[in-house]
Amino acid sequence: MNTRADVLVVGSGAGGGRVALDLARAGAQVVVLEAGPHWDARQLPLPEVEMLARMYWNAGLELSTDASIIFTRGRGVGGSTMVNQALLDQFDEDVFARWRDVSGVPLFTTGQMAPWYAHALRDLQVATIGPARFNGNSAQVARAFSQHGMAWHGLRRGEGPECQTADCMRCLGGCPHESKQSSAVTTLREASRRGVVVHAGWTVQRLVERGAAVDVEALGPEGPRTWQAGLVVLAAGSLGTPQVLWRSGWKRELPRLGEGFTCHPQFLTGAVLPVRVDAHRGAFQGVASSDPRYLARGYKFESNFVPPIVFHTLFQQRPGHDLAERYRRMVGVEICLRDLSPGRLRLDRGGRLRVERSLSAEERARWREATGVLRECYTQLGATEMIFSPKAFSVHPMGGCAMGTDTDCGVVDPGFRVFGHPRVAVCDGSLFPAAPGRNPSLTIMALAGAAADQLRKAA
Ligand SMILES: Cc1cc2nc3c(=O)[nH]c(=O)nc-3n(C[C@H](O)[C@H](O)[C@H](O)COP(=O)(O)OP(=O)(O)OC[C@H]3O[C@@H](n4cnc5c(N)ncnc54)[C@H](O)[C@@H]3O)c2cc1C
Repeated sequence: MNTRADVLVVGSGAGGGRVALDLARAGAQVVVLEAGPHWDARQLPLPEVEMLARMYWNAGLELSTDASIIFTRGRGVGGSTMVNQALLDQFDEDVFARWRDVSGVPLFTTGQMAPWYAHALRDLQVATIGPARFNGNSAQVARAFSQHGMAWHGLRRGEGPECQTADCMRCLGGCPHESKQSSAVTTLREASRRGVVVHAGWTVQRLVERGAAVDVEALGPEGPRTWQAGLVVLAAGSLGTPQVLWRSGWKRELPRLGEGFTCHPQFLTGAVLPVRVDAHRGAFQGVASSDPRYLARGYKFESNFVPPIVFHTLFQQRPGHDLAERYRRMVGVEICLRDLSPGRLRLDRGGRLRVERSLSAEERARWREATGVLRECYTQLGATEMIFSPKAFSVHPMGGCAMGTDTDCGVVDPGFRVFGHPRVAVCDGSLFPAAPGRNPSLTIMALAGAAADQLRKAA
């Protein structure tokens, strides 16, 4: 195995796939190390327990230190894009103005970012789900939102034509049709045609700088191994990248490392209607609120419905069999909060990650407020029963290595390099200087495109 590369990318998700492809297109010899396995679309695990255990870090059950939030991230070639719902949002000036305020970085404007969004979208198949494709759940939720006078829109997804006819609802366990636009079937597939090698099953432990190269120490199926690269790009996600930097011993010089961690706490809700809904069939998700009244309060709603195992984990206060009987008459909506109280990441003495993120009193108040809005919506639909998960979960870990103009506010400079370590760059969700309150993956891809451009020019 060749252990030398011009560029070594750590992680193969939204950011890693994009940066690997763009640097290969620019002529670099690129290697990607990914901790999880490569998944063959024909052999994806189907039982839910197996799917969670094998395709997610810690079986999809990583907890904050006070156990108030469950974190879920994908593990395998494609990263979280392999298991995500592929909703693609573009941030508006409201988000970028907040980012500029905290980071001072001039890239964060809709105008500067527009070409990078376009660049990311060029390699994706995209469809917007309109009323003609709404499944039973989205149709009921759209009706309830309209009756409530709430502005809503159909969701934009990264999906190929098979998603438009398939009735599989298997996004959370990987796409058996290779239709969902994960980086495994988009950027990384094209990257491998251009000579990029992805080594699956290798977990990077730490980096050691040696003159004009960086040693990358990893543990894999054949034991420990060290790679050498002229440039290392960390794209291991918000829970992975800070851990590698911390283990490399750089926390002392990077005071913001692990700080500003955000996660969009989400809460599932459901209601039993007098009619059959069959939320488990058709297009997975279809509708999101876009009502400025609620966005200004820091929350939004999205139609959602999850597999029974997740359902029973989150709605833990209800006897499972009782609800299962009414499963086909249930509608589901998730509440998504924009963080008001960022948390922080730490390493314990054993090098394990600790996520210190509690729900603040104000965040709990917003959650109760959002719950009240949904109660009214469900009542308008004639619900005979409503359930609200008390447990928050997060599929959007962000921050921890924020971009900023100096080490007082950031870990990564506006050129995407770690302060004081010009041979190490970051290209993933850990760059976010604040929570956007929108689906993050498209912006991570866009930023990774901008990063590749800057890294290429500076090489
Ligand atoms: C169930 C679910 C649903 C979601 N739905 C949506 C959605 O609809 N829309 C949206 O925008 N976002 C969604 N997200 C979030 C989105 O997928 C992520 O924000 C995005 O993929 C993060 O990109 P990233 O590059 O930062 O990290 P990831 O895509 O998570 O990639 C990081 C990769 O690094 C690997 N890694 C970690 N540590 C190491 C290490 N030490 N060595 C080697 N490899 C390592 C991981 O295994 C992973 O493959 C969802 C996420 C989940 C889990």
